[in-house]
Amino acid sequence: MSPTKPVPDVAVVGLGPSGLAAALALAHIGAEVVAVGPPPLPATKSALETRTAALLTSSVDLLKTLDVWPALERHAAPLQAIRIIDASRSLIRAPEIEFRADELGLPAFGYNVANSLLTETLYARAQAVLPAVIAVGVNEITVEPNKAVLTLSKGEPLFARLVVAADGRLSICRKCAGIGVTERSYDQAALAASFTHARAHENVSTELHREGGSVTTVPLPDPHASSLIWVGPPAEMARLVRLDVESFVDALAQRLDGLLGAISSVGARAEFKVAGLVADRLAARRTALVGEAGHILPPIGAQGLNLGLRDAASLADCVADALHAGRDPGGDDVLDAYRRARQFDVMTRTLGVDLLSRSLLTSLPPLQAARGLVLHGLKALALLRRAVMCVGLAPPTELPSLMRRAAPD
Ligand SMILES: Cc1cc2nc3c(=O)[nH]c(=O)nc-3n(C[C@H](O)[C@H](O)[C@H](O)COP(=O)(O)OP(=O)(O)OC[C@H]3O[C@@H](n4cnc5c(N)ncnc54)[C@H](O)[C@@H]3O)c2cc1C
Repeated sequence: MSPTKPVPDVAVVGLGPSGLAAALALAHIGAEVVAVGPPPLPATKSALETRTAALLTSSVDLLKTLDVWPALERHAAPLQAIRIIDASRSLIRAPEIEFRADELGLPAFGYNVANSLLTETLYARAQAVLPAVIAVGVNEITVEPNKAVLTLSKGEPLFARLVVAADGRLSICRKCAGIGVTERSYDQAALAASFTHARAHENVSTELHREGGSVTTVPLPDPHASSLIWVGPPAEMARLVRLDVESFVDALAQRLDGLLGAISSVGARAEFKVAGLVADRLAARRTALVGEAGHILPPIGAQGLNLGLRDAASLADCVADALHAGRDPGGDDVLDAYRRARQFDVMTRTLGVDLLSRSLLTSLPPLQAARGLVLHGLKALALLRRAVMCVGLAPPTELPSLMRRAAPD
């Protein structure tokens, strides 16, 4: 693009689910958006089987608004209940507890969708809607008074008023904006896979906690298939990933202890580092961080991508306000508004998931006992249970407008 051409409002860097949702949300409110990054890998059957995302209702509402949900709906499984089983040997053994969406008058807390299918569907929509989707990496960003200049790995530089940094955990955009990070280490790894089982899951997701780690099963559209997230010490997870299928099925069956009946098959397994990261600021120098460029959470409680989608929708609100008022979409006032809008949600989710992860890993009897008491309280008190469910679904602040506009089911 030559410098004499008009500068687009926004360049979104990173074509993961958060970046693509941000690009579509910003295009939806009328911004001129260019998206740039390596294209997502096609949703092959084995990728489909590996990692899924539990999307909460507000995220599904955003996807409905962006006209992406119709292509995903029939591949998504509703999450009608979440069951927590504490199988640890703590002093105060917590009771089994079930959170049901119908206690909140909802048909489901959300839907479980294959990560690769979600990204591929968002990508197809971005290609149809955006003026340009550029399939190269970004090497560097510099900021001039009225625009950001993006140096691409191939071709001419790209200009934009606002850069949306959705380039994941090692974000180059974040670095170029001079934003530091605080990292948390857990000495844990996660194994993701899917499996089929004799007993129907009945749209219930189960978290089974033991000393040193947890196993979560999340329903897939087939009533006899679930996705699996097994969190534990890195060496143990590496061993489980390498096991032959038969031995892995035995190990899983032992861990689940008959929860979903006999296990008949297991799909491709993948291992992920469990990490925690939060950016020191969510925006600076014409750059707004979205998704894992701004925050990474351990995969407990299905919060990570839902938080990234709320970033996307919230940024769209801030940019819409600026465009309607004829202001610069990358101006400091827009970046300030975005930081203010996201601060509370990001901070409370990051701290909440960190606390939860550490309480599940602790071997200290007083902390184990405290966890047991909290779960006893939740089991006994419907009001407390409902409050926790509401907070888990969305922050107590108002949702961004694109998450409120979806047509009713
Ligand atoms: C095992 C596991 C289970 C999970 N389950 C859930 C769940 O149930 N619900 C939930 O909400 N979250 C879940 N999460 C979290 C969720 O998967 C992540 O939050 C989400 O995938 C992050 O998406 P993203 O778009 O921010 O980042 P990414 O998916 O990492 O995308 C970053 C993109 O940036 C691109 N990029 C990188 N560098 C450059 C560059 N220089 N130039 C251009 N492009 C670049 C990359 O190619 C990539 O496409 C889970 C995570 C794990 C590990």
